[in-house]
Amino acid sequence: MDDCIFCKIASGEIQGLRIYENEETLAFMDIAKDVDGHILVIPKAHCKNILDCDPETLSAVMQTVKIVADHLVENCGYEGVNLLNASDESAGQSVPHFHIHIIPRKRDDGIDAWPKFEGAKEDIHSVFEKLKM
Ligand code: 5GP
Ligand code: ZN
Repeated sequence: MDDCIFCKIASGEIQGLRIYENEETLAFMDIAKDVDGHILVIPKAHCKNILDCDPETLSAVMQTVKIVADHLVENCGYEGVNLLNASDESAGQSVPHFHIHIIPRKRDDGIDAWPKFEGAKEDIHSVFEKLKM
């Protein structure tokens, strides 16, 4: 997509710190500088988010997430990862090109990567009746 920053990083038009790539996907450093090792994994072909991407693209992205996560643990001294994704503006998505955030973790690193929720407002059973498939 012409105006998409992550499409431009994928194509090389804009520079990125490329950790790993294959034909369909790219893993590169997030510029946020919010936590050490913050990595994004994207499909090279544009799709907006999990609601918009086809299953093959999602599968390719998750395989790359696994390759990078294994590398972080096997070769870089990390012990685990948090995976984060926002799909749609309602969920906090700020860049409209699908991406999975990888946050490398070590025990006692002091990082709290879990969202602060304010508590459920509805009864769990009535929510269950709405959600079950
Ligand atoms: P979202 O809020 O959509 O889940 O995450 C978007 C992420 O993209 C943010 O963590 C932000 O730091 C990162 N980001 C935004 N613009 C750029 C950029 O130009 N280069 C890189 N490497 N990351 C970016
Ligand atoms: Zn794009």
